[in-house]
Amino acid sequence: MRWAIPELEKILKFCDQNQSLAVFDLDSTLLDVTPRSIQIIKDFKNTASYKSLTDDDKNNYAQINYQHSDWGPSAPLKRASMSKEAHDMVFKFWWSKFFINDYLSYDIPYPGALDYVQKIFSTGSDITYLTARKKQNMLDGTLQSLLDLNFPINNKQTRCVLKEKDHNDHTYKLDWLKKEIPKYTKIFYFENEAKIINHVRRELPEVEIIFMDSIHSQEDSSPVGLPTLPCKFK
Ligand SMILES: [Mg+2]
Repeated sequence: MRWAIPELEKILKFCDQNQSLAVFDLDSTLLDVTPRSIQIIKDFKNTASYKSLTDDDKNNYAQINYQHSDWGPSAPLKRASMSKEAHDMVFKFWWSKFFINDYLSYDIPYPGALDYVQKIFSTGSDITYLTARKKQNMLDGTLQSLLDLNFPINNKQTRCVLKEKDHNDHTYKLDWLKKEIPKYTKIFYFENEAKIINHVRRELPEVEIIFMDSIHSQEDSSPVGLPTLPCKFK
């Protein structure tokens, strides 16, 4: 996947000439979270749960091959033929570590994503990182990761918005976007999760959505007819 398609040049030009807001989801939109999952699964080996696995499951664990196209650990654990008991142990460990600050430093930007956000920033457009990561558990790590990766952050032009209540993700993002609409000529919204995109597209047709076709939960079908960032690792 490379963030370089003709629609993006048009967006840059529009942002240069208008009061625009570019909204970027983080996980699986700007950032490839695969290394985060790989590291968590690797660190499972240091746990008491790992030591309690059968020899067969220890062998299976050694065969886990987490791929960029995997949405969470279930598919790679199944491919490695882990027993249900072992699967549940690894999954529980992964879940306890994926949604906290500690492993966010392993995320890496998709090729071209950083350059693209920097270009939008240089047009003077406002930028918001809008993520369903929970503020309580992930704010510090999220800000640090964006800083470390050189994504533009300042208090004047950029915001980083994390989830504060127990909303579902699509309602939370829709409600946030709705409040911003009156302030801008146009909002460009970059997102990978089909369920969120389809909801926002139905409710807020004035928001220009760019579908990041990386991975998503499959809870809804991928949108068609939107500007799409193709993902070559599928
Ligand atoms: Mg996402």
